[in-house]
Amino acid sequence: MARVVILGAGIAGMNAAIALRRLLGDRHEVWVVAQMNRFVWRPSLPWVAFGLRRPEQIMVPVRPALQRRGIRFVEARVLRVDPHRRHVITEAGAMAYDVLLIALGAQHDWDAVPGADRFGHVICRVDGARRIWEAVQRLERGTAVFGVTGIGGCPAPVYEAALLLDNFLRRRGVRPRVDICVVTAEPAPLHVVGPAPSRLMAAELRKRNIRCHPNAAIVGVEPHRVLLADGTALPSAFTLVMPPYRGSAAMQESSELADARGFVRCDTALRHPHYPEIFAAGDGAALDAAKTGHHAWLQAKVAARNIAAFLSGKEATATFRPQFACNLSLGMAKGLIGFWQPAPPALGNVQVQLTYAGRPAHWMKVLLERYALWKIR
Ligand SMILES: Cc1cc2nc3c(=O)[nH]c(=O)nc-3n(C[C@H](O)[C@H](O)[C@H](O)COP(=O)(O)OP(=O)(O)OC[C@H]3O[C@@H](n4cnc5c(N)ncnc54)[C@H](O)[C@@H]3O)c2cc1C
Repeated sequence: MARVVILGAGIAGMNAAIALRRLLGDRHEVWVVAQMNRFVWRPSLPWVAFGLRRPEQIMVPVRPALQRRGIRFVEARVLRVDPHRRHVITEAGAMAYDVLLIALGAQHDWDAVPGADRFGHVICRVDGARRIWEAVQRLERGTAVFGVTGIGGCPAPVYEAALLLDNFLRRRGVRPRVDICVVTAEPAPLHVVGPAPSRLMAAELRKRNIRCHPNAAIVGVEPHRVLLADGTALPSAFTLVMPPYRGSAAMQESSELADARGFVRCDTALRHPHYPEIFAAGDGAALDAAKTGHHAWLQAKVAARNIAAFLSGKEATATFRPQFACNLSLGMAKGLIGFWQPAPPALGNVQVQLTYAGRPAHWMKVLLERYALWKIR
């Protein structure tokens, strides 16, 4: 009986654990190690930030969800991995593995934009979303600055937050006193999702009187000011900036496994190039693909299938193919869907693309949230 250890209980870790239990039956042990006994559906954090969800509505306790499936859970912070001894070093001690799946996610590189976490708001964590909700209820006047700084993560939550703030301030009747502006390093809003969603987003921002500054780099945040690379200092009564990503601190301490930014090296079978018993999935994997929950989910399935094949001595045949799916809230019960998928190589350089904005796109996001939380529970 082999021991499969999964690091991380986010979208990638939890979905991989559930898939592995199904694929392996009780022939092998499955363990999950994570620093918190809770799964957070992060795509709903902007709803928490603007009072549309309570934090407990988007979280699931991990231990009981895993235990009832016969998966063991260790609540501990991972410090590093020793691939020679096949050990994971955690704050609670060392743990041996036969097969390892690293799904520790990524973290924002706050050093890249000094002051962004101290003087600005943080939307990627539950406590940060809670604080935004407290702050926006007090916001009466001034400028709210939303910033997309780097490439790597998906900028969609920043646009989502700007639009949800517009919505909330209109309901409170104070929107005319608050100027909202988005500063982005992209050449156009939501550029990463493709030209059609980008045009839709630009039109939506114009319609709501939200100013957008493309091709602008934020270099720092100070109390009540956002500093741009061209020397401009924007006054700000509310700041939310999303800096670029880097790998988890534990992977930065495991330099044999990760690249210089702490992302775990792997091929499209999600397998490490030098350690065939180590796999990676989710935001923490060094792949040329957007860091989205949709990709984390697809990668969890691919990694689980290849781990099952590895344990039965077969070839790893499942392959991850990037496929961009973005479903974001525009507020006012409206949503936007942007989707593209490269066609199979036999069809040449063709892409399947879909873009839509309207009420059904909002309901799709709600259904996806319900399904994702139900599946983990
Ligand atoms: C505000 C916001 C909105 C988003 N909206 C969308 C969306 O609409 N659609 C979409 O597709 N994507 C969206 N994303 C992106 C999506 O949430 C991520 O791509 C996805 O969560 C990545 O999953 P993951 O499992 O790789 O990492 P995570 O979800 O970050 O999970 C990492 C896990 O590892 C654990 N961990 C980390 N470090 C350690 C350590 N040292 N020791 C032990 N445990 C550790 C964490 O506790 C967690 O359990 C959004 C992200 C944010 C922040």
